[in-house]
Amino acid sequence: MRVDRRHFLAASSLAIAGSALDLRSLLAQPASQAPPETAFAPVRRSVGLFTGQGGTIGWHVDKGGVAVVDTQMPATATICLEGVTSRAQGRKIDRLINTHHHWDHTAGNGVFRPSTLKIVAHENVPGLQKAAAANQPPRPGLPGPNEQVVADATYTNTWREEVGDEVMALKYYGPAHTGGDSVVTFEKANVVHMGDLVFNRRHPFIDRPGGASSAGWITVLEKTVADHGNDTIYIFGHTGPNWPVTGKKADLLYMRDYLSALLAHVGAEIKAGKPREEIIKSTAVLEGFADHGPLIERVLTAAYDELAAR
Ligand SMILES: [Zn+2]
Repeated sequence: MRVDRRHFLAASSLAIAGSALDLRSLLAQPASQAPPETAFAPVRRSVGLFTGQGGTIGWHVDKGGVAVVDTQMPATATICLEGVTSRAQGRKIDRLINTHHHWDHTAGNGVFRPSTLKIVAHENVPGLQKAAAANQPPRPGLPGPNEQVVADATYTNTWREEVGDEVMALKYYGPAHTGGDSVVTFEKANVVHMGDLVFNRRHPFIDRPGGASSAGWITVLEKTVADHGNDTIYIFGHTGPNWPVTGKKADLLYMRDYLSALLAHVGAEIKAGKPREEIIKSTAVLEGFADHGPLIERVLTAAYDELAAR
């Protein structure tokens, strides 16, 4: 199933590219090293998405411009780049966006770099990316502290540019999942890439060392909804099992309500006088959010430490 799917996708992209070289390298792969499961899917107009390993990638391809949002990890970045390049009939990528610094969104930057004119991110992202790489244990197959490929163009509050027949707008609404999250809007397609500002029905990662704020995150989701319409399609970085990688504004508000409920839950536990160790070890179900499964230490710790620091 998995191999068939990959072969089907590879075959379709090869049919477009018509490249014998790609076919040879594909056939040369040993059968024991099956490539990761990946898929391209259209979203609307010239915008689509790519799923593989790491945060969902967004792309825009038309006759006049090519853009990619996030890069996952080297193995799947290679497959994504191949597919985008064949759709773009060999054109370079005009703009590569990093929604934030996390390695499952940026470790593929080096794969895209030679085919990309400019990498854009919020101004906090390059520093956060380098700091995270320096502070984390090395991961096999991923770029180390001295191999980080970071954005070469940054912005403070907003960034907006035409890419082919599409207009891309980036906005920084303040600390949320990290201290450098961009909301990436494809204005004509009315499609928004949320990076990791939405974990669709999945306990999120709240990266306090990376500048995150759960309270800020709630505000960011509300402002994002206010800035877009009822028909806007949002692309999500991560999802719970069997939940879709795209959705509407109700899904953003559901994520907001989850974060509100999480802070309220932990706040009530603190008020009840429970010790930190007991609060963060809870495996209760957050009331109203059974679809997330039992609470986990990662989110409880982040919420506790944020409230305790007030
Ligand atoms: Zn992230």
